[in-house]
Amino acid sequence: MNALQNHLKNMHLGGAVGNILTQNEKNWVQKVLTDDPGLFDGFANPEDDSIFKTMWHGEFPGKLLTGIAQSYLLNNDPETKLTGDAFAEKLKAVQQPDGYLGPWKTDVRYEADAAAGSLGKWDTWGQYHCIYGLYRWYQVTGNRSAFETAKRALDNIYDHFIDGGISIAAQNWAECNLAIGHAFALFYEETGDNRYLDAAKRIVDNDWNDEYPDFYSKKTLCCGWLNAALEGRAYYESGQPRWEGLYALETLASLYRITGETKYFQALESLWNGMCKNDRHNTGSFGTGEGATGDPYGAGSETCNTVAWMAFSTEYLKISRDPRVADELELSFFNAALGSLLEGERNFTYMNDSDGSREPALKVLEPHSYKGARDMSCCQANGNRGLSQIAEWALLSDNDSLYLNYYGACELETTVRGGYKMTIKQTTDYPRSGAIKISISTDCPEEVTLFFRIPSWSDNTLLTLNGGLNGGQVTVLDGLNGGQGTVLDGLNGGQVTVLDANGDQVNGWQVKAAPGSYYVVKRVWNRDDEIDLTLDMSPHFWIMDKGNTSKLSVYYGPLLLAFRAVNSINKSTRFDIEEFRGMVCRDGDGLVNFTAPSITGKDVILTDYYTAGKSGDAYVSWVNFKSDELIVHSDKSECPIWCDR
Ligand SMILES: [Zn+2]
Repeated sequence: MNALQNHLKNMHLGGAVGNILTQNEKNWVQKVLTDDPGLFDGFANPEDDSIFKTMWHGEFPGKLLTGIAQSYLLNNDPETKLTGDAFAEKLKAVQQPDGYLGPWKTDVRYEADAAAGSLGKWDTWGQYHCIYGLYRWYQVTGNRSAFETAKRALDNIYDHFIDGGISIAAQNWAECNLAIGHAFALFYEETGDNRYLDAAKRIVDNDWNDEYPDFYSKKTLCCGWLNAALEGRAYYESGQPRWEGLYALETLASLYRITGETKYFQALESLWNGMCKNDRHNTGSFGTGEGATGDPYGAGSETCNTVAWMAFSTEYLKISRDPRVADELELSFFNAALGSLLEGERNFTYMNDSDGSREPALKVLEPHSYKGARDMSCCQANGNRGLSQIAEWALLSDNDSLYLNYYGACELETTVRGGYKMTIKQTTDYPRSGAIKISISTDCPEEVTLFFRIPSWSDNTLLTLNGGLNGGQVTVLDGLNGGQGTVLDGLNGGQVTVLDANGDQVNGWQVKAAPGSYYVVKRVWNRDDEIDLTLDMSPHFWIMDKGNTSKLSVYYGPLLLAFRAVNSINKSTRFDIEEFRGMVCRDGDGLVNFTAPSITGKDVILTDYYTAGKSGDAYVSWVNFKSDELIVHSDKSECPIWCDR
């Protein structure tokens, strides 16, 4: 099955967003080995009882290295390369002779302590993150030693669980430990070794259904995700709806790529849509607390939830090629992921509330940490991965086609048709405005098809090639009905080839592109070709559909707006929707800033969600509106719930 791939070399990320991510890379990623010198102590001395370890202790280096690999794609910063190479060296150095890559004593490794009656722990979960991080680092930089370290660790797990006939669930905490199936599937794709494919299949077909005592519910249960999905149950209705399970679910995407078996795709489609409908919050975060509950209005999501949701969504996007999935990734990035980063661009939060205030994981999750690695917690180790995830979905490839998903100031470098260079430069202050100039440069002499994501929320989108008409030859306004020449399925996302009367490619046209689609342009790209993409930034809304509440979320493009409940503004301040519709951008400290008067006449400043909460101030993003207003067209069957106008 032909899935999209990520061949991005460098994003050259710029603009306000690039500045935030670069600061995080410099202030946190590049300094983590200095700030947390004890990061690998538990791995190097697994028999040493004096080192404090949470059950998820083994995940920290792997989560960090995955973020480092993605961060390296943002700007190819040599310091980040040094940091990632140092991580790979450290992990190689602390690997045990048999390949074991975790922090646990020999006599409690894997399922040994669970078999002896204790709770067990997250052993193959921690190793999964290390293996995945090393593998991604190898893919991004070619560091072969990183790949070999990862492979030795995976082989050790194979020998123990697969050759040994032991269920991964025998360790308990199966929702975490089953993630290792994803690593087996990836290593089959990398090596073609059938042992790995057999392992991935066994884990999904059998181990997912093996029962274990669940810590949270105090019941014996099985995850049963595949069966639940095929029966049409949402993730929150499955045996185990915690966020950790989303890494195991990524195995489904790999198995569908490998085998083409429709059950894997059907399960993915059912799970992703069920999560989006029932558990995606207004910030783009996933789940309430630490898992899916079926309530999109629940209070707060853990940062780790959103990171897992974005990783899972990226894999589903590659399989489904559904632009709505990229819309969701954009929503999650600009709000929940950015919003997990606090002022100073170093520390991340644990909980991301729609309304509330933010505290650093460094404080809230301090009990995860230990001497020599005081920063370590699940969320602090994971936060950068959430931010830098854009490098995994910004631009996806399928040989002669490129899918442009990320909009913002950057210059995306990639290859097409087996090696020709292609750069896509975006000159824009998006998401502050919807005007994006896209300059294409390539040495490819053949046709390349570009898929431009037209967001679901952009009702009126114009796409203009080379300034529009070139000599007045052809006008294409709505695809099928447009102008002379050959125009195939313009508005609905088919390919567009505009030819003049002589059959030559026409160098200039303008189209109106439909929301929630990819607009497809197939052409031999000239060195100086430019596309002007103009997105519709008029505000859109999500009306809370819960009880008698009169609350809504206001969006400007992909940005959720929020106000700080300070300076004599009550959290329950009410607004008139028409005031939001008339908002005008103003200066301020946010990525965007607006003023809207409340119904009591107070001018309230709204900013993007990230800015509203980054300093720890109380903020509100579900705002009250006059309940007798009416108003917003809501058609949930056609567009995502947050795109109403
Ligand atoms: Zn966490």
